[in-house]
Amino acid sequence: ARFEAALALAGRPAAASHRRRAEAGPAGGAFRNASDTDPAVPDARSWAAGVRRLAQAGELGRATVTASRVADPAALDDRLATASAGAGGWQALAPERRAAILRAAADAMERRRDELIAVMMSEAGKTLDQGDPEVSEAIDFARYYADRSLDLVSLAGARPVPRAVTLVTPPWNFPVAIPAGGVLAALAAGSAVVLKPAEQAPRCAAVVAEALWEGGVPRDALVLVDLDPDTLGERLVGDPRIDQVILTGAFETAELFHRIRPGLRLLAETSGKNAIVVTPSADLDLAARDVVASAFGHAGQKCSAASLAILVGSVATSERFLGQLVDATRSLAVGEATDASAQVGPLIGPAEGKLLRALTSLEPGERWLVEPRRLDPAGRVWSPGIRTGVEPGSWFHLTECFGPVLGLIAARDLDHALEIQNAVDFGLTAGLHSLDPDEIARWSGAVEAGNVYVDRGITGAIVQRQPFGGWKRSVVGPSAKAGGPSYLYALTGWERVADLE
Ligand code: GLU
Repeated sequence: ARFEAALALAGRPAAASHRRRAEAGPAGGAFRNASDTDPAVPDARSWAAGVRRLAQAGELGRATVTASRVADPAALDDRLATASAGAGGWQALAPERRAAILRAAADAMERRRDELIAVMMSEAGKTLDQGDPEVSEAIDFARYYADRSLDLVSLAGARPVPRAVTLVTPPWNFPVAIPAGGVLAALAAGSAVVLKPAEQAPRCAAVVAEALWEGGVPRDALVLVDLDPDTLGERLVGDPRIDQVILTGAFETAELFHRIRPGLRLLAETSGKNAIVVTPSADLDLAARDVVASAFGHAGQKCSAASLAILVGSVATSERFLGQLVDATRSLAVGEATDASAQVGPLIGPAEGKLLRALTSLEPGERWLVEPRRLDPAGRVWSPGIRTGVEPGSWFHLTECFGPVLGLIAARDLDHALEIQNAVDFGLTAGLHSLDPDEIARWSGAVEAGNVYVDRGITGAIVQRQPFGGWKRSVVGPSAKAGGPSYLYALTGWERVADLE
């Protein structure tokens, strides 16, 4: 019955989520984001197709994962040799041909939209309303990077030369868009790719790879390698045939990669501890909506999520604002992702460590505005919570917890709010809700984050419109942003051109 309810929804065009995303306004130029449009393939989205795909969700991608499993050094060596040999052929294709393949890959992902959503629901706990825009983002990456690959030009007497093999190591929290984005960028930059899926979401990566192969990406230009990082991870990262790595994950993982291989060319988007500032001039209704969506979408398991709301002056005691925050949080439907009505799905695993602490205990001076509740014996499903009275400089202020807990901090004025917001080590996303142009100008000029949003939620960056990437400890390597114009340049090698000198 659970599945049936999900199917009824999965079979419908996901217009609502697309319309919501379109509120941010049109992208410039001729580029049209899949994120703004309704899916163009009604057949694939029919109720019957939804039924079949969700019923098979537990099997989607499984055969591909099995085939890509690498159990020992010899098997790994074999796969790396394949990618290394495949690099030449991919590089030798005319750029227009490569771009055409990437566009065909986008179409294949559109045809497989239901499958991609279903595998995310079943394997990674993504709810339908989160999974659907994620597929759009993957499609956007394919089309955007296809376009950008055609305008890679020589700069300062050097011309771009593809690097042979790029290793892409995505996280489990965006198990389709992030592997797709990394792979497509590297392919667009002319490189062959080894994709090592997140341990918790190998089937999601497998379905992405299947779609890309279906679109015409050669199997030796995209090699899926599923392995146990404890036994073979070091060997993979340390192999000289890997020319560069695109990592999305913890800051510590980036450090580990550099220890394994000093001097490794690494583009990493790492952790975040993000806040939305709300000033008394804000539209408080919109602010409450955006704070709740940014804090609790995908159960707070986004690097971009709002973990803090910094409430300036009277907002900290505004009954209207706090009442809306509480009501909106309590009314969220929490459950398994395969339950169609769920708005907050499960955690990727039982809450532990920092997250368990954040869900179950308070620091001095704090109290629960909404106390989180554990809803299953395993400790994966939690109703979202809000702690108030969080002190500047406290544990919760400064620590990334990656789950459905929001902390409220009171600030005297905007400068104080900025001081609190900038005090964290990370700088990925930041938000301001204010209708005062002076406040907006002052805040935008001083806030330390890669993605800065005004009067909007702070998750759900749209390709091209909001290129995504961090600052401070949220980035390691070149600060080129995914889905932005400099990304392919950061993935390309350079060769001096004599006659340009
Ligand atoms: N790009 C995603 C967003 O804007 C976040 C990705 C991540 O969590 O790493 O919400």
